[in-house]
Amino acid sequence: MSVTLHWFRSDLRLSDNPALTTAALSGQLVCLYILDEADDCPPARHKNAYPQQTDAIGAASRVWLHDALMALNNDIDGHLIVARGPALSVLRSVIEQTNAEQVTMTRRYAPQHAAKDQTIIDALTQDGIQVCCESGNLLWEPEQITKQDGTPYKVFTPFYRRGCLAAAPPRRPLPVPDLTFAPLPPETMTIDQLGLKPKQPWAETITDQWTISEAGAQKQVSQFVSPTPQAGLSCYADGRNFPAQPATSRLSPYLKFGQISPHQAWYAAENTYHQDDANLDMFRSELGWREFSYHLLHSNPDLKTTPLQKKFAKFAWLDEPENLQAWQSGQTGYPIVDAGMRELYQTGYMHNRVRMIVGSFLVKNLLLDWRLGEAWFWDCLFDADAASNTASWQWIAGCGADAAPYFRVFNPITQGQKFDPEGSYTRRFVPELGELPTKFLFSPFEAPADVLRRAGVRLGETYPHPLVDVKSSRLRALDHFAALPKS
Ligand code: FAD
Repeated sequence: MSVTLHWFRSDLRLSDNPALTTAALSGQLVCLYILDEADDCPPARHKNAYPQQTDAIGAASRVWLHDALMALNNDIDGHLIVARGPALSVLRSVIEQTNAEQVTMTRRYAPQHAAKDQTIIDALTQDGIQVCCESGNLLWEPEQITKQDGTPYKVFTPFYRRGCLAAAPPRRPLPVPDLTFAPLPPETMTIDQLGLKPKQPWAETITDQWTISEAGAQKQVSQFVSPTPQAGLSCYADGRNFPAQPATSRLSPYLKFGQISPHQAWYAAENTYHQDDANLDMFRSELGWREFSYHLLHSNPDLKTTPLQKKFAKFAWLDEPENLQAWQSGQTGYPIVDAGMRELYQTGYMHNRVRMIVGSFLVKNLLLDWRLGEAWFWDCLFDADAASNTASWQWIAGCGADAAPYFRVFNPITQGQKFDPEGSYTRRFVPELGELPTKFLFSPFEAPADVLRRAGVRLGETYPHPLVDVKSSRLRALDHFAALPKS
């Protein structure tokens, strides 16, 4: 019986995994995960200096990855081989030890990964190994959706409505294939030996709210689509903007690690809701934003570092590390911003509305470079994604494709009042303001002295004074924007 090695990367699932299915149909299976140090150097978490621009897996994602590998190994009865080192030499060594004749893998899209994969495919093919790289993590391949003249889209709505929805519908999800495993090589590393999960208290508690496994992802999507009043997809279109409401899917980390495919999420929703349902349409279009981010990354490989609108290369960002540190640690004096940044640090996740608020605050009110925000999110988010994180930061900074115009500055006070009207989200993460009446919760510096005293708040002691004034910092941002060349 021939042996096929499936190289798991961002496809840590057994169901709807086309490359794994190809491998399983070919005979005996070897399952491998490689931590390639060239991609994955140590995390920057807890550093207070400017984070470095790096493609290394961030600290929070490494913890998720550790748990995801444990779950996958469990699902395949301990047959996951894990290794550290340069991917090509690890593959060659495991191929030799297991007599594999074929290698399968799911396509990756980040430019450095795509380039590395091509080198590996060429080298293994030269070794006489058959290599099969299949798509599995996007609904439509980035190069498949183009404008009529063959160029990539730059604006979301035509990309999604005229491009994606007019193309062939996404394929239907595949079942788990029958798996027959080849004998394991005599000596393999343990997942713990990969060193992904530091022995620090935060790494134990940060995953508390999640079940990090393929079954956990399936449970999450089932709960999200099951018709429930005031929760999940039934109230997604309106509820998704309110961080205190359980109206979004929270599928993003599972999608990032491939514990669920976008096809499974797409059809789980479509099979439960009527085609004309506004909630279904909105949810699918959010999955469409994920596709758009990959489309942008594919056509702009330097998306992580270079503004899509070239004039922003000349933007006069400020160099104020203390302000960056205050933002990172949730000490800006604007409670909705601080709630978001603390949610991020404590839980590895942040609600989308709040990501937009904190992002706008960093790049507009503080005038700090969007790449610093991107790097911090990259380190702290479970769902940190090469395409979505970068494209979203460019969007919020106003320098991306189809971006929020730079002059549209989110006001952190009114955003808090509108999207956290009872203040429960903000109070959860900024407990020192827990007793403040909602009227002053989003601008404690406007509260009369006796109100602050009764709430036990001492500005500058128990909670910071605001880092900047929102009105004057907005005008300052507009001045900087006006100074840019017109094109
Ligand atoms: P839902 O609302 O349930 O959406 C379903 C899925 O659609 C998500 O899981 C996600 O895969 C996709 N999606 C939703 N909104 C977007 C979007 N705007 N762009 C791309 N995909 C989207 N998302 C990431 O997955 N990884 C990131 O690193 C990331 N960084 C971001 C940084 C900033 C500054 C901003 C403003 C947004 C970022 N997003 C990122 C997009 C979005 O905030 C998250 O996808 C979403 O909050 C995840 O929660 P959810 O799964 O409950 O989303």
